[in-house]
Amino acid sequence: DILSAHLILLTDPNILNETLKLINEGKTAEFALSRIIDRECDVLDATQNQLLIDRKADLHDIRNRLLIAMNGGSTEKIIYKQQTILLAQEFTPADVLGLDPMVVGLVAVEGGTTSHVAILAKSKNIPLLVGVNKNILNQRVKDNVILDTRNSVVNLSPTVNDLYLAHKIIEENTKQQQINRNNAKLDAITIDGIRIKCMGNIASIKDSLTLSENGADGVGLFRTEFLYLASNVAPSVVEQNLTYSQILQNIGTELPFIIRTLDAGGEKQIAYLNMPHEINPVLGIRGIRFSLYNKEIFCNQLEAILQLNQTNVKIMLPMISTIEEYRSVKELCNKVVEKLNINCVIELGIMVEVPSVALLSDIFAKEVAFFSIGTNDLTQYTLAIDRECTKLVAQLDHLHPAVLRNIDLVVRGASKYNKPVSVCGLMATEKLALPVLIGLGINSLSMNINSIADNKAFIRKLNYARCRNEALKCLDFATGTEVREFLTQQYNDYLG
Ligand code: PEP
Ligand code: MG
Repeated sequence: DILSAHLILLTDPNILNETLKLINEGKTAEFALSRIIDRECDVLDATQNQLLIDRKADLHDIRNRLLIAMNGGSTEKIIYKQQTILLAQEFTPADVLGLDPMVVGLVAVEGGTTSHVAILAKSKNIPLLVGVNKNILNQRVKDNVILDTRNSVVNLSPTVNDLYLAHKIIEENTKQQQINRNNAKLDAITIDGIRIKCMGNIASIKDSLTLSENGADGVGLFRTEFLYLASNVAPSVVEQNLTYSQILQNIGTELPFIIRTLDAGGEKQIAYLNMPHEINPVLGIRGIRFSLYNKEIFCNQLEAILQLNQTNVKIMLPMISTIEEYRSVKELCNKVVEKLNINCVIELGIMVEVPSVALLSDIFAKEVAFFSIGTNDLTQYTLAIDRECTKLVAQLDHLHPAVLRNIDLVVRGASKYNKPVSVCGLMATEKLALPVLIGLGINSLSMNINSIADNKAFIRKLNYARCRNEALKCLDFATGTEVREFLTQQYNDYLG
């Protein structure tokens, strides 16, 4: 999906025409391309908007690959002879996608913890550490390096003893992961009998093929953006319906299949949708706001989903911030159902990503079918920290007590009308966060597919009553660091 966005950037008429102009003036193609990409980057820098500035990485990536190709070089991946940890200023999505299987870890000076690169690395199960001191690039590296992302450290000159201990931990973890994988299909039930549903987050048909072997209790979040990123025009009703039907076939009609409608805007720009230039795109026409401004595109998506007419298929709306938005979508859904002339009771739920929804969750609970907490954005909007901003990565913590209090509000608000609540942000993938989520009353999680077996095994060791006490304590801490320290003390022996 990300490479499709790069392909669209390659056809950007501005870049093409300006480059051709310089070539016609007698400059070499390499010089012309570099000059124009630099100019585009200067324009992004001048906006002083971190979100746009971060997109320079995509332009650099395209330039580098083009320059290599123009000089007869190959952008084919480097083959490593032994297990390798790569250190770099920054990784691009293309770097991560093309990695040699011998690469077992990534360390970068720049990058966000919820950036595209981070999401890709997670889906490939490659540990990634970002935000390290740039001096690391000048240091001499010996044969062995230890990367410990759990404690955010990279050891460039380990002693024999360090290596012995690291190998021991890796060996034990690998053994445990294999056991967990064998038990993936067992339910995640706490020692005191509370069942926690562990669903998967998917972004493609391919992802849906791996759900069953990983023990997923359904799909809690299907990010439909890929359908829109994969071509130069919005996908038709027929194309979309075909994709949804194929995924449904892989999931079956028993387990939930929650389809999130297009979440465009913000950091997810889609070139052909002509999204308006905004000074603060993350606070502008994104998520459901974009869909309500582009009703034709939106109704096509609703039609493609509603045609499935299956009770386990649910629709989830991203970036809802007011009840009026929800009501407008409900009306549109009813119109589409009328047009299709079908008898269809579709469950229409919302993501909780904006604090206004957490604050009014008891009001929303009267009308919405379910809530799913998108902790990536809820953290961004609660703490007013751009999730793509490298410099603020350390403060962007979903375990911050302010985020926990918002989650607590949602659970209590939803319970007034017995509405289900799940969590589908990266928080549901992080083991350390699970006791506190479960303790706050969350009994449904949707996570990275690779983490399901391990997280289910971890949940089977938890005690809900104990989690409850700990969660209440966490609500009263002052900082995310305090919450992390407390939970690490409690669960260090179990974390693996
Ligand atoms: C979230 O915000 O937590 C979420 C799941 O949505 P995305 O990461 O796609 O914005
Ligand atoms: Mg989100």
